[in-house]
Amino acid sequence: MEVILGKLGEAALKGDNRRTFERILAENTRKAVAPFGAFDVHYAQSTFYVKPLAEDCDIDGAYEAVKGVFGFTVVARALGCAKTEEGIGELLRTRIAPLVAHKTFKVESRRSDKSFPLKSPQLSAMAGGILLESAPGAKVDVHQPQVTVFVEVREEYVFIHAGAERGAGGLPVGTGGKAMLLLSGGIDSPVAGYMTAKRGLRLCAVHFFSFPYTGERAKQKVMELAQMLASRCGGMTLCCVPFTRVQEMIRDHCREELFTILMRRFMMQIATRLAYKEHCRALVTGESLGQVASQTIDAIRCTDDATSMPVFRPLIGLDKLEIIERARAFGSLEVSERPYEDCCTVFTPRHPELRPKLEEVRQVQESLPWEELVEEAVQATEFYKF
Ligand code: ATP
Ligand code: MG
Repeated sequence: MEVILGKLGEAALKGDNRRTFERILAENTRKAVAPFGAFDVHYAQSTFYVKPLAEDCDIDGAYEAVKGVFGFTVVARALGCAKTEEGIGELLRTRIAPLVAHKTFKVESRRSDKSFPLKSPQLSAMAGGILLESAPGAKVDVHQPQVTVFVEVREEYVFIHAGAERGAGGLPVGTGGKAMLLLSGGIDSPVAGYMTAKRGLRLCAVHFFSFPYTGERAKQKVMELAQMLASRCGGMTLCCVPFTRVQEMIRDHCREELFTILMRRFMMQIATRLAYKEHCRALVTGESLGQVASQTIDAIRCTDDATSMPVFRPLIGLDKLEIIERARAFGSLEVSERPYEDCCTVFTPRHPELRPKLEEVRQVQESLPWEELVEEAVQATEFYKF
C-alpha cells in the first residue's frame, strides 16, 4: 500500500490557529488531489496522509498535486506495511534496499504507537542492519547521508519512505484572507499572485483591457494565467474591466506626461471597488521599485493615494532576472512572453513624469468625471470563474 505524506512547516507553529490551519490545509489538499481519483486525506501528528481509496487512483498525479499545495514543507511517497518485524523487514528488503544501494544512508524512526515493542533507536538499528545486508554497496553515514530512510510506526500501519522532497512551503491558501490581484498579461503580476497565495491569501484577479487597442488573444492569455493561479489557490474569479473609455478620456483631456500615473490611479480605484464586491481586503500588484516610470517612489505615492486598501507589492525588491526565474519555476513565463499588447502599452507618453506631484495629479483627476468613469467601468465588468 502506498500513501502520500505531507509535513507541516510554519503552519504547525501557529498555536491557537492551528486547528483552522489544519482544517483549511486538509480541504486544499482534498481539492488538489480530487482530479486524480478517490483519496482519503487525514491528519495525525503534524503529518497529512493522502491514501488512495481505489485501484485506479493516479498516485503520480496526486503526488505532483500535493507537492504544489502551499503549507507543506516536506512531501514523500511512503509504503505501508503491517506492524510486525517481518512486515517491516520485507518492505525494506524488497522496496527500500534498491533506493539505498551504493549510497550512504541513515534511518530515522518514529513511534507514535508506544505499544509497539521496539523503541525508536532499536527500530532504526534493526532497519539499518537489514538495509546493510540487503542493499549492495550501501553505507551508513549519520551526518551527511545521501538518503534518509524514515520508519514511522502509526496507529494502523508502519510507513517507510526514502527520498522525501521539499514541498511548496508557505502557508495554506485561505488562512490569511483574500486579496485582489491586478493581473496584466506580463511577467510580473502572475509571480506577485503566486507569492501572495503562498503566504496564505486567497486571490481574486482584475484585468483591464482596451478593446479594440488590445485584442481577444491578449485576453485569452490572461485567462490562461488566471487558470494557472487558480489551480494553485483553490479557484479564482477573474474580473475583466473594459478600460478604453478611461484611457481615451485621459488621453484627450490631460497632460501627456501624467497619462500613466492617472491610468494607474484609475486602475486602483476600480480594483478597490471590485475588491469590496469580492470581499478582498488588500490589492496586489507586480510592481518592482524603479523598473519603469510608474514605479518610482513618487509615482507609487500617487498610486497608493487612489486606494484606501493596503497594497502588497511582493516583487518590490526583485530584479527583472529574479522575477523571470520565479515565473519560469511557477510555469507562467512561457504564457507571459507571448507578444500581445497590454492596455499599458497603448497611449504611452513619450516622457512619462518620473516625479509626479500628488497635488497636481489629484487636481487633474478632479477635472475628469472620474467617479462616473469608475462606476461605468465597474458596471461593465465581466466575471469569469476558474
Ligand atoms: P507586468 O509584467 O505584471 O505587466 P510591468 O512590469 O509591465 O508588470 P506595469 O505595466 O507598470 O509593469 O504594471 C505594473 C502592475 O500594474 C502590474 O504588475 C499589474 O499588477 C498592474 N497592471 C498593469 N497592467 C494591468 C492590466 N492591464 N490589468 C491589470 N493589472 C495591470
Ligand atoms: Mg505590464
